Amino acid sequence: MKIVWEHSIYVGEAPVFCAICDRRSYPIKNSHNQLLLAVIYDKRGVVWGEACRDCVAAGSEAIQARLQERMLALQKKMDGLQMLSAEKIETPSLEQEFQIHLRS
Ligand SMILES: [Zn+2]
Repeated sequence: MKIVWEHSIYVGEAPVFCAICDRRSYPIKNSHNQLLLAVIYDKRGVVWGEACRDCVAAGSEAIQARLQERMLALQKKMDGLQMLSAEKIETPSLEQEFQIHLRS
């Protein structure tokens, strides 16, 4: 993985989500008042999104640890979704839906 500061391709200072830690991240302004984002590339040159300032500053070992942490969290979430999707799904009864519409 290679992280490079590049001119933001987005309009304005809208936040992006860090592809490493998933936290909200804002572009930084350089001395020429240009907005920069830390873009993540894999070894084939494919863009994987942006990194937040905190991850960039944390260094390669911390980035590796954060990626591991996030993978575990996603795995946990995926296991949960897999379990839920395997269960029988019961939506609210017509009676219940009707009650809701009466109240609104
Ligand atoms: Zn981050």
